[in-house]
Amino acid sequence: MVVMNLRNELIEILEELRIFFEFQKSLGVERVFMQRQTEGQDETFQLLQEDKPIPKTSDKPSLSANVQLNIFDPLVKEQSLEQIREEIGDCTRCKLHEGRTNIVFGEGNAKARLVFVGEGPGRDEDIQGKPFVGRAGQLLNKIIEAMGLKRSEVYICNVVKCRPPENRTPESDEIGTCEQFLFKQLLAIDPEVIVCLGGVAAQSLLHAKTKLLDLRGKFHTYGKAKLIVTYHPAALLRNPALKKPLWDDMQIVMKELGLSKSGD
Ligand code: URA
Repeated sequence: MVVMNLRNELIEILEELRIFFEFQKSLGVERVFMQRQTEGQDETFQLLQEDKPIPKTSDKPSLSANVQLNIFDPLVKEQSLEQIREEIGDCTRCKLHEGRTNIVFGEGNAKARLVFVGEGPGRDEDIQGKPFVGRAGQLLNKIIEAMGLKRSEVYICNVVKCRPPENRTPESDEIGTCEQFLFKQLLAIDPEVIVCLGGVAAQSLLHAKTKLLDLRGKFHTYGKAKLIVTYHPAALLRNPALKKPLWDDMQIVMKELGLSKSGD
């Protein structure tokens, strides 16, 4: 009995460790340094602290704000979406705050099985403080409905929470400052599937420089979730030929979530 309990506990610890390291990997962390326990230390091990910076070993974009987001830190692990929004506050952490009207935090089901992640708010989103409410948003609504879901059943957010001037692509320092909040949102929601809409969301969450074309069409791993990359709805507005590959990607998602097409 005792042996069985110990065994189950060990399995649980190993599973938590696996999730921890996979999550760190998805944050772009390539090495985790630990110290052996020495007498008098009550911590079994310590993750690398500021005095021993993680060496940059690749040209992957680095997280400027929160290099090691410790998902076992109760303060991080148990943060609700409301608390994350409060932490963002009236943010001035990067230059995007200068031109924004509203912070666009994200909206939808806080326990959604499916999360869509876009690039950053556009003009309509900035005015309304809600993600994907402009033309691209209307198309996203249609995609969600065609998947047999309601917008209120999924969660929708962006990599950066403030509108970049003239809708330009967010810069790496802006992404690096803001992405910690996206990581925390995803940790709080704990979805089964994440859909990255476009290359910026994909490269940010996967910390890869791979082209969208090479990333789409299959699942990647993000922490405990499956992550798929597809075209941004705005790209479909410019090029309707992308509708077919996007729908192929959504069918992979629907299969994973056990959804049937609306009308079936
Ligand atoms: N494009 C995005 O990437 N996000 C939005 O919220 C709207 C348009």
